[in-house]
Amino acid sequence: MSAPDVQPEDIALVDEVLRSPSLSCGPMVERFEADWCARFGAPHAVAVSSGTAGLHLALIAAGVTSGDLVITSPFSFVASANVALYERALPLFVDIDPVTFNLDPAAVADALARAAKSVKVVLPVHVFGQPAAMERIVRDADRHGALVIEDACEAPGAQSGGRPVGTLGAAGVFGFYPNKQMTTGEGGLIVTRSSEWARLFRSLRNQGRDDDGTWLRHVRLGYNYRLDEMSAALGVAQLRRFDELLASRARVAGLYRERLQNMEGVTLPPSEPDGARRSWFVYVVRLTDDVDRDAAMATLAAAGVPSRPYFSPIHLQPLYRERFGYRGGEFPVAEAVARTTLALPFHGRLTSGQIDYVAECLADAIAGARRRPARSTGAWT
Ligand SMILES: *Cc1c(COP(=O)(O)O)cnc(C)c1O
Repeated sequence: MSAPDVQPEDIALVDEVLRSPSLSCGPMVERFEADWCARFGAPHAVAVSSGTAGLHLALIAAGVTSGDLVITSPFSFVASANVALYERALPLFVDIDPVTFNLDPAAVADALARAAKSVKVVLPVHVFGQPAAMERIVRDADRHGALVIEDACEAPGAQSGGRPVGTLGAAGVFGFYPNKQMTTGEGGLIVTRSSEWARLFRSLRNQGRDDDGTWLRHVRLGYNYRLDEMSAALGVAQLRRFDELLASRARVAGLYRERLQNMEGVTLPPSEPDGARRSWFVYVVRLTDDVDRDAAMATLAAAGVPSRPYFSPIHLQPLYRERFGYRGGEFPVAEAVARTTLALPFHGRLTSGQIDYVAECLADAIAGARRRPARSTGAWT
């Protein structure tokens, strides 16, 4: 489905760390953070051990605690909702836009108005690298005294209103798992405008040590959410090649668009809204309702083409069904999208020939997975 793009120069920098005495808490993490700030104009960057860890710390900084509500999307990776549960808060899911698959800003406004003061955070996710409707979400959250924490884990390099995602709310979080646009193996990074929050993040990631990192002096409940030096070195090296990494993914997305745009039964990813720039994380197409998505996937698999349903909604995960009693039907747009979307193999080094093959197999798979139209009186079969 995906493949990290690791080149000899990336390996060389990791190798340099391995030959040095500092494998953790050394200069490479600081360099990665400084390079990130320079590249994306973020005032402060704090590297952490994963995107999930970053989201967790951002909610702690926002003061999220027992019984608070965090408005977020059911159409996301489970981490963006789980982090609310870590602090005994409750995710308040709202439905998504059927075209962008991001939070529907009108539904966010409704939820803010209904839940009023108990919403401490709105946590939009830039799904698949497509920026969420940040201007409206930030404005409405402000009006209700809620903070915005951006889950930008799928969107490094994306822009909204001409500004890099992650810098539009109180904090933004990136993730560097190997399927992301750039990788550190495991890893994440928080950006924020607040120097106070940045200090807090540095303390929280390092077992609650105080500002000067004094040896074994712990002033708050912290975590081991540190990024190690080898991972940071990979981050530094990948960031140097970031434009190239994004461009090669955009090239592959362009080839998919060419091959699939006239294919019956397929809806392609939406184009970018004005002032926005998408960063390609995955290539997800939506199949029309008359195509049996799972049957199409099986045909693709038989032809050696991997594909995945993407996402499976968070509220329908067994944990959420059991804990909160969701049964389906609560978020009809997210559920309909989840039933009909399909992620195709995607990374920056797919060849034109490979994409031709995927496209050919997809056309066959769709043709074979069409549900027969009902006869005059009959039901769907
Ligand atoms: C990748 C990702 C994360 C973070 O994942 P980690 O594996 O913890 O780095 C968070 N949210 C979304 C939407 C993601 O895609």
